[in-house]
Amino acid sequence: MSNWEDYVRRVEPYVPGEQPKKEHMIKLNTNENPYPPAPGVVKALREMNTDLLRRYPQPDCKILVDAIAEFYGVKSEQVFVGVGSDDVLAMIFLTFFNDAKPVIFPDITYSFYDVWAEMLRIPYETKALDEDFLIKKEDYYGENGGVIFPNPNAPTGILMPLSEIEDIIAHNRDVIVVVDEAYIDFGGESALPLIEKYDNLLVVQTFSKSRSLAGMRIGYVMGNEKLIRYLNDVKYSFNSYTMNQTALILGAEAVKDRAYFEETCRKVIETREWTKKELHKLGFSFGDSKSNFIFAKHASVPAEDIFEALKKEDIYVRHFSKERISNYLRISIGTKEEMQTMIGFLQNFLAEG
Ligand code: PMP
Repeated sequence: MSNWEDYVRRVEPYVPGEQPKKEHMIKLNTNENPYPPAPGVVKALREMNTDLLRRYPQPDCKILVDAIAEFYGVKSEQVFVGVGSDDVLAMIFLTFFNDAKPVIFPDITYSFYDVWAEMLRIPYETKALDEDFLIKKEDYYGENGGVIFPNPNAPTGILMPLSEIEDIIAHNRDVIVVVDEAYIDFGGESALPLIEKYDNLLVVQTFSKSRSLAGMRIGYVMGNEKLIRYLNDVKYSFNSYTMNQTALILGAEAVKDRAYFEETCRKVIETREWTKKELHKLGFSFGDSKSNFIFAKHASVPAEDIFEALKKEDIYVRHFSKERISNYLRISIGTKEEMQTMIGFLQNFLAEG
């Protein structure tokens, strides 16, 4: 008997939301943007010189890094890009979380954090959200090997005020604090200005939500130049060409169009607020989401029943079979028409029940 299986790095992988291949469906399960990418992106894709694909892309991702730096008014040396923020976050775990003390994050949060920690053998500890699903900042003041949390948090959608985030950073000057701002553009205040004041802060964002490019896989992090250098050292030790040529060109185009970006976010926010009112009328309760999804539970009908009923109608939302949140549904914000269809269905379904 050979025993090679004893040497396998066994991991329990993250489970992404379903991507059903249906032509007519309402897909509200992975927080994608319902609007197309900026017109400049579509044009650049049509006109792209495909001869470029013969060559390796820029290893330093300069066109994209420079475009992001310009948009946010930071130096290019303060920006690192990756294949979605998942890739950026994995690099951050690998680069900065190397202590015997545990990395800390909320018990209810982005469910990839514990997967990376387990895979990379990083000790971690979770801190319980309070009964209203809020992060308690004092929980993050003790000794630890690093801190990470999303703002707004996922899947709750609840935003933490910047002053509280600053308190957490100020209490953790000897470790790296990561604020995962995947959903910050839908009404939150970014911690980005704090990178000038705190050299241990990393602010992670993505093109997958507010810039309608989930399929292109582009994420980035901004922070002190020294932190970015360390991240690049690890990246070049792993894979020099993380970003493909198409992603570099289209990403740079997407970030240039500020007006389109702002208009798209405005529409999503408007639809979110409309959806909140309608869900309330139907007997749902939820925290005050500042993201592009609503995390809601119904007063009497179990989440799983609603989930299954919606699915039969080809309306996909997300349900997590996890302690404390198994009676909630995470509903991404689609177009106004999509949300009207979902609400219309729920009106009938809940009236029947
Ligand atoms: N952080 C959070 C909190 C998320 O919900 C997601 C989306 N699944 C990500 C990061 C990763 O997004 P992406 O890799 O598409 O940038």
